[in-house]
Amino acid sequence: MNFFDIDNRIIEASQKAMELCKSKLDEINDIQEYNQQKMIKAFQEAGVRESHFSGSTGYGYDDFGRDALDRVYAYAFDAEDALVRHNFASGTHTLTVALFGILRPNDTMLSVTGMPYDTIRSAIGLEGNYPGSLKDFGINFEMVDLKADGTVDYEAVEQRIREEKPKMVYIQRSRGYSIRPSLTYREIKKLCEISKKTSPKSIIMLDNCYGEFVEKVTPMSVGVDIMAGSLIKNAGGGIAPTGGYIAGKKELVEMCAYRLTTPGTGKEIGATLGNNRELFMGAYHAPFVSCEALKTAVFASALFEILGYDTTPKYSENRGDIIQLIMLGNEEKLCSFCEGIQSGSAVDSFVKPEPSDMPGYESQVIMAAGAFTLGSSIELSADAPLREPYAVWMQGGLNFCSGKLGVMLAADKILKKSEEN
Ligand SMILES: *Cc1c(COP(=O)(O)O)cnc(C)c1O
Repeated sequence: MNFFDIDNRIIEASQKAMELCKSKLDEINDIQEYNQQKMIKAFQEAGVRESHFSGSTGYGYDDFGRDALDRVYAYAFDAEDALVRHNFASGTHTLTVALFGILRPNDTMLSVTGMPYDTIRSAIGLEGNYPGSLKDFGINFEMVDLKADGTVDYEAVEQRIREEKPKMVYIQRSRGYSIRPSLTYREIKKLCEISKKTSPKSIIMLDNCYGEFVEKVTPMSVGVDIMAGSLIKNAGGGIAPTGGYIAGKKELVEMCAYRLTTPGTGKEIGATLGNNRELFMGAYHAPFVSCEALKTAVFASALFEILGYDTTPKYSENRGDIIQLIMLGNEEKLCSFCEGIQSGSAVDSFVKPEPSDMPGYESQVIMAAGAFTLGSSIELSADAPLREPYAVWMQGGLNFCSGKLGVMLAADKILKKSEEN
């Protein structure tokens, strides 16, 4: 079996990588099985039935499928309630609805994990000065920097929470496009304990993008009050065609629903059109698919470590998200990596990724993605800005076999390219 003409040296290194990460993969299998069973229980508790798939039009009153889908996610996330809608246009939109739903003029939002993810900054009013940002509405943003090694500065966090008594303590779980580690439930738990102890009234919000179903312990069960994420990342199982979710305390979810639709109508309206069935299927697959992506990341980390590259996280580390960073060291290797990933996709495999200018980035960026859903990063994808340390951010993989193939092809392309010269 060598449909892709992969060099024997890469095949051997891959076998070695599989041995190296065997116990980690076993651990992930255990998480996968746990969360899959929990999801099936969630469907049963929510009373999901075939008639829920038919959807609604117009105002979308009495859409029992929509209500059941909310209950499914609430159960899976250990939340009192959830708001799961195809109408959320992106993860950023979902997070923004939650921020605007909860924060009021003169409130303070305190980020305790440093600078939030790139696309949220303009919604907060940190970049671009757009009308309608939180800042435009008189909402203050404060932040506690991460330590130099990228970990949370708990002492500084405690002090700032004590001083500010902020309306919201904001945590970002995933590394985003930074080199810092992701937060596992342990760090999230510690932050929640500090916040509840120091300022019991502060609302703890979590940007949970890329973090869903990678652990057994949920953020809600360790003290998070409200969280949000995208359905074209982990939470939609690679099947949801668009959308996002908000989950948390009932009264907070309701405030978010008042923002998404109107104060008064909240969760009661919003036609689902023909989307219910796919969203249910996405929920059903999400625990499985998230762990397949996690295995792909662990394998990539092990393989590239064997091939002599610095990787973060290491294959043996605990993970709070599905992102893998590989320090490739130069532009040629970044491009080869992305070409290799692309060449393993089922869709658009003939496309050759090229570096290009991107709004908001100082250096050129190269991206690889051959996806069934445009921009879906639970499907195997890689992106890299062309600058030091020439690191590639890789994530996704709908199933481990295809994810592993993409990673092997990336390594193969780097090898072949270097031997051309
Ligand atoms: C992806 C992501 C977002 C935003 O999601 P989009 O769907 O790209 O708008 C926010 N925060 C983090 C940490 C993310 O990874």
